[in-house]
Amino acid sequence: MAGPKHSCGIVGIAADADVANALYTALMVIQHRGQESAGISVFDRDTIETVKGDGLVDHAIPKDKLESLKGQIGIGHVRYATTGSKGYINSQPLVVKAAGATIGVAHNGDITNYPQLKEKYMKEGRTFLTDSDSELILKLIAKHRVSQGGPVEAIRAAMGELDGAYALVILINDRLFAVRDPYGFRPLCIGKVGGGYMVVSESTAIDAFRGELVRDLLPGEICEITKTGFKSYPMEGSHPHARCMFEWVYFARPDSVIDGIEVYQVRKNIGKILAREHYVEADLVMPIPDSGRAHAIGYALEAGIPYEEGFMKNRFVGRTFILPEQKLREAAVSNKMIPIKGTVAGKRIVIVDDSIVRGTTLKILVSMLRDAGATEVHVRIGSPPIIAPCYYGVDMKSRDQFVATKLSIDGIRKLIGADSLGYISIDGLVEAIGMPADELCLACTNGKYPTRIDGEEYRF
Ligand code: 5GP
Ligand code: MG
Repeated sequence: MAGPKHSCGIVGIAADADVANALYTALMVIQHRGQESAGISVFDRDTIETVKGDGLVDHAIPKDKLESLKGQIGIGHVRYATTGSKGYINSQPLVVKAAGATIGVAHNGDITNYPQLKEKYMKEGRTFLTDSDSELILKLIAKHRVSQGGPVEAIRAAMGELDGAYALVILINDRLFAVRDPYGFRPLCIGKVGGGYMVVSESTAIDAFRGELVRDLLPGEICEITKTGFKSYPMEGSHPHARCMFEWVYFARPDSVIDGIEVYQVRKNIGKILAREHYVEADLVMPIPDSGRAHAIGYALEAGIPYEEGFMKNRFVGRTFILPEQKLREAAVSNKMIPIKGTVAGKRIVIVDDSIVRGTTLKILVSMLRDAGATEVHVRIGSPPIIAPCYYGVDMKSRDQFVATKLSIDGIRKLIGADSLGYISIDGLVEAIGMPADELCLACTNGKYPTRIDGEEYRF
């Protein structure tokens, strides 16, 4: 699909004091959702002021510029790093002047009918500055504001055209709106924080302010957030839901609660179920830090095998997953993770990670463990084999990238050099999350897509 992927983090705050610093803090807390760019927009008197840039929050938003942002209502964004989607033009929030208003938007997700809609509007003579589906969202809202009158009606009309994944925070002059797409792919919740209200991708950001999580937005819901509360415009009628399972498995922070379900608890459940589905006798259970940690704890508890930290991770090395070449990825994994010899030498080890995509990480780590003297290495994985691309915002784009589309499970075991390999089953994963399977998006593991995508199987 054209354009950058947008599994990002978003936040909006309305308060009785300047919000730029609070937005900055919230973005720091959800930094794991995106490290490529960051930005903040606030409404100040009669316009929207924005500071944004490349890199981590503290790099993208310099302190002196942050101090220049005045205003009691605003939005912020961190963008997920993916290959080939760099550049200031793609960083958010995006802001445009429209008839009678300045409109800003920050978006998490991917619009699946973006190419069709963009082509349609270009034929009608509209122009676009970017390859970003977020720009399309912004322009649809601006367009419908002219014909529909009120902002809620305009957002509703834009939603009627859009398909796919979108969690949004929108500034229309001095009014803040939040939107969750009708499938509920990406998380978005509202909290009460000192002096106002916050809407944010993950509840951990509300906790960071010692605030109170009020609730998640419902799929398809629009909320207007003010410093004293929020007004809900729920979706009429029923619509299928498809919450991304990968939020619980890998993407979200363990201390977040999504749709009432704590991420840490789900990961521990996954580990427990893995221990039941793929028990093996061993001396110790180890996580691949940090993503496999909670899964490994669950496995150790259920299997009755001691838990140990056997890899040290260099925290200052960024994500290796997104490097453009296999050689670079392999070198980066080798530099990032070092085994603790005293823990692993002479031991039969179970290592637990959240997922296998290309197999890069495990191939290297298993061989490192053997070099460090491990006698057996058993690999357990907290998601079912990834066999189909994600069109909804997670950076798993093409089938030929996935080792599980090319090799059998035993073939993957051989490739990574493990003594045994076990993935959690799809049923086991659904049980671990604790939500009915038809409320979840499992497309990357079963190839059944909740929205219509050319060449892919439609779920309904
Ligand atoms: P692999 O090394 O098999 O290609 O990728 C799996 C590893 O990459 C896991 O340890 C996982 O935590 C990490 N990872 C980092 N970013 C992503 C991502 O966007 N998607 C997935 N599935 N894994 C990722
Ligand atoms: Mg990992």
